[in-house]
Amino acid sequence: MKKALITGLTGQDGSYLAELLLGKGYQVFGLVRRSSGSNLDRIGHLGDRIQVISGDLLDQTSLMDAIAISQPDEVYNLASQSYIPTSWTQPSLTAEYTALGVSRLLEAIRRCHPDARFYQASSSEVFGQPDVSPQNERTAFRPRNPYGAAKAYAHWMTTNYRQQYNLYACCGITYTHESPRRGAEFVFRKITRTAAMIKLGLASELRLGNLDAQRDWCYAKDAVKAMWLMLQQEQPDDYIIASGETHSVKELVQCAFNYVGLNWQDYVVIDPSFYRPDEPIQLVGNIAKTKAKLRWTPDYSFEQLVELMLESDLQQLSQEAIQPKVQLVSQLN
Ligand code: NAP
Repeated sequence: MKKALITGLTGQDGSYLAELLLGKGYQVFGLVRRSSGSNLDRIGHLGDRIQVISGDLLDQTSLMDAIAISQPDEVYNLASQSYIPTSWTQPSLTAEYTALGVSRLLEAIRRCHPDARFYQASSSEVFGQPDVSPQNERTAFRPRNPYGAAKAYAHWMTTNYRQQYNLYACCGITYTHESPRRGAEFVFRKITRTAAMIKLGLASELRLGNLDAQRDWCYAKDAVKAMWLMLQQEQPDDYIIASGETHSVKELVQCAFNYVGLNWQDYVVIDPSFYRPDEPIQLVGNIAKTKAKLRWTPDYSFEQLVELMLESDLQQLSQEAIQPKVQLVSQLN
């Protein structure tokens, strides 16, 4: 039985990757940081099929312990501070998690279990405002926010450890990928969830920034398949994980509102406060190498992704509406 350690288990990708690996017969360990409340919502359904190890990317000892306990064949580093606006308000913390956390994890692997294969969740944000479109694995990095800069550092540390220490270490340069488990602060989920809320009479408007912004979106379930495939190759290498297509925010809005039978122009309000300070131009992945070497292409189209997210949001919101809300009652009553 192969063993895998996933950091970021409680996040969107971690939960889908855990399901994929369990389905393939892996023993799955997940690094989960301590919090004062439960952060296990996305993995609750997996019950005791996963072994959770308490640890934090900020803490070298806990990472070494996690590697020593799990003795993994594969390590997937999906943990990070992953929200760009927060990287501007908390740049040092973003660097600690997203950049230096990767150094700590690579050191833990090198010292405790150097045969483990390592996957690093790199990001299209390393390209920032690229000078070519589409981008491939050789496109120059020009990060334009603290998150992208931290991911660029993590990317280069991973490739340096591959070259210097001969670790089997790979970077997946992933473009935006979505699912019903995506945080509601990200634009795709914000649009599908708000369209569903408007349909159900729970909201009256959707506030957005630049409708002409273009993104390369794919389904998180497709993305995690590519991550796994990367660690099954003879040689470690870096790959683009993307749909290879761009769609504008406006197309997404139209598609979502069409699905619920509403006219988007009646509900969308343009709010300049949602404009990104550095809007990347035509960030789209060239997946030629990924297709050829990993034999991977996304299974789900853009339209299918919009539909499955809306179905899930409508179902979730309807269930929430019939569940009694927890009321905060003063103890003095
Ligand atoms: P996510 O939902 O935001 O999950 C992030 C995970 O990292 C959570 O499990 C979080 O734990 C964990 N984490 C944060 N700080 C940590 C720390 N100090 N120690 C241990 N764990 C920590 O992210 P995602 O969407 O699954 O993305 C997975 C990875 O791919 C991330 O590295 C992200 O930057 C990268 N990426 C994502 C996309 C995308 O479109 N989704 C695109 C490009 C790259 P808590 O539950 O405790 O907060």
